[in-house]
Amino acid sequence: MGIIVQKYGGSSVANAERVKNVANRVTETYSAGNSVVVVVSAQGDTTDDLIALATELNQNPSKREMDMLMSSGEQISMSLLAMAIEQLGFPVVSLTGWQAGVDTTSNAGNARIKKIDTERLQRELDKKKIVIVAGFQGIDKYDNITTLGRGGSDTSAVALAASLHADKCEIYTDVDGVYTADPRFVKSAKKLDEITYDEMLELASLGANVLHNRSVEMAKKYNVKLEVKSSFERINGTIVKERCDVEKMLIRGVTRDNDVAKIALIELADEPGVAFKVFSLLAKEGINVDVILQSIGRTNSKDISFTVTKGNLERALEILDENKAMLGASTIVHNDELSKVSIVGAGMVNNAGVAATMFEALFDAGINIHMISTSEIKVSVLIDRKDAEKAVVSIHDKFGI
Ligand code: ADP
Ligand code: ASP
Ligand code: MG
Repeated sequence: MGIIVQKYGGSSVANAERVKNVANRVTETYSAGNSVVVVVSAQGDTTDDLIALATELNQNPSKREMDMLMSSGEQISMSLLAMAIEQLGFPVVSLTGWQAGVDTTSNAGNARIKKIDTERLQRELDKKKIVIVAGFQGIDKYDNITTLGRGGSDTSAVALAASLHADKCEIYTDVDGVYTADPRFVKSAKKLDEITYDEMLELASLGANVLHNRSVEMAKKYNVKLEVKSSFERINGTIVKERCDVEKMLIRGVTRDNDVAKIALIELADEPGVAFKVFSLLAKEGINVDVILQSIGRTNSKDISFTVTKGNLERALEILDENKAMLGASTIVHNDELSKVSIVGAGMVNNAGVAATMFEALFDAGINIHMISTSEIKVSVLIDRKDAEKAVVSIHDKFGI
């Protein structure tokens, strides 16, 4: 039989009982004749707790030391799971990211996997061992431990599945699949049997944190068979794949992302080169800009607004403020009490009126829109954070998904 990669998220390994549950599931898959590689996240809220410990000592710790600290969470769960599996009498070994050959770039806190040297993994599998790998971490060319960004264990799992040419990659979590909206607050959300890589990538990038967006990117690139399913119930989950029957559904999901902040530059000169100046300043600092809105020029001036992540807000404001005179802005304002709410679906490509339906839902709910952006398979609006959950529910109901 083949190689199966399973990933268990933080809630699935939160305490001893749940670790035992995972050990049972893993050994069942092994006993059925498969080679099994298991990726684990830190237990429960461990990563948040570690971050809180750091800030007690240093408000601005180096990213290198943060990665050193955060990577310890996954080391706890991998060894505990290995012990639980030993207890059941099965051969097992746990490996950190570097022991498993996970080579990453050097940008601490948000490193990318460059390649996985599977030699050690393969050797352990050849010895018929169940291999547990710490998710979310790797090592860079200077031998520093790196982490892959919050939620990055999904990406570890998919990368391992791709490098080992695994038959499938199963992502076990606290929901039983990908839903049309976050089932935690949208009670009418429906589970999807399947979803395309492209749609899932949009959903994940727009706030559906059930999968790390880079894991979906990688699954698409290497054609990894991906399934999101429950670690508690034994039922089918959601298959993520290249193609599905999209005709049935106009939109596939509604998401919200609270990690947005808006910056507006007021009364810029209405002449060529202004947007170039603004956005090249930010690009030089590696600050990504998302939704951009430029007002019509009136009396020789125009305003430009755009969004960045909350983590980049302070630095972006600093840079713009330093260059305020050069840019010719009269004022720079910002707002970080916002959310981006989006609808996603390949079915909207050839359907006029999808955006209008979304705006109607927001109008019915009395919610004001600050900015709008669209692409072939999504429409996003920027609204006040306090309205975000209501907006998702209203839009979801309006489309009658
Ligand atoms: P894990 O610790 O297993 O990685 P996460 O918290 O990262 O789990 O992801 C699972 C959570 O994602 C769910 O509990 C759910 O609240 C949230 N979520 C957001 N959007 C969706 C969606 N469209 N479908 C399913 N879950 C979603
Ligand atoms: N433990 C890490 C986090 O909380 C990685 C993960 O769970 O995927 O972000
Ligand atoms: Mg996650």
